[in-house]
Amino acid sequence: MLEVRDLVVGYGPVEAVRGVSLTAAKGGITAILGANGAGKSSLLRAICGLAPVRSGQVLLDGKDITRAPVHVRARLGLAQTLEGRQVFGPLTVEANLRLAWRFGRRRIAWAPALERSFASFPALADERDTPAGLLASDLQQQLIVLAATICAPSWLLLDEPSLGLALAAQREIYAFIAECRRQHGTTILLAEQTPKPPMRICDHGYVMRHGKLVAEGTAQVLIEAGVIAALSSAYV
Ligand code: ATP
Repeated sequence: MLEVRDLVVGYGPVEAVRGVSLTAAKGGITAILGANGAGKSSLLRAICGLAPVRSGQVLLDGKDITRAPVHVRARLGLAQTLEGRQVFGPLTVEANLRLAWRFGRRRIAWAPALERSFASFPALADERDTPAGLLASDLQQQLIVLAATICAPSWLLLDEPSLGLALAAQREIYAFIAECRRQHGTTILLAEQTPKPPMRICDHGYVMRHGKLVAEGTAQVLIEAGVIAALSSAYV
């Protein structure tokens, strides 16, 4: 289980996350939905140790990691994809994956880890020697999720995995996310602006606005409360 208790994240005068408490159930998929600037990225970045926490706690299976360095969180089995397609552009696809593997919790040897990853996205496997910066956006997104999952993390944070992708590419990424949970029991917390893609696979959703959680529930509860329609119409 991943738990956040009364978390406050701030940058100078800006308070991006204002007292958020949430739980991502073990082996479940939890979505954080919200418009641009709601604080979703700041929340995910704070969980992985990349945004300044002013107060509150982050716990993995009850262990307080609020002040743990990023590499310690990675070795515990926490992995993330950040917003903005961050790849090492001049490095090849394979070199990007190797770096991710070296940084993570290396429970699986390099060769089988690579082959297992490429089996999920054969089109990316064909580009293994291509510099990542030259990939089309759908292949870049595949590389990013593979880099985050190559060490079979226990907890996975995904920041806007469907951003800028055509529908077919979104579906492929979401099918992969669902498969990660099914095969490895990964606990997944993902943030999206558009609610439609995650609603198909998530068990629970939270809605964030101006740094606070304003609604939560199963996909069905959020749909019935009109929350999903309101968020969707904001992007039409
Ligand atoms: P988006 O979907 O556009 O990424 P978001 O919901 O992820 O939005 P954040 O990126 O967390 O929201 O931003 C929340 C608030 O914090 C915004 O007002 C943003 O301008 C501010 N913010 C984010 N990062 C920083 C930073 N490094 N320094 C100062 N302010 C920041």
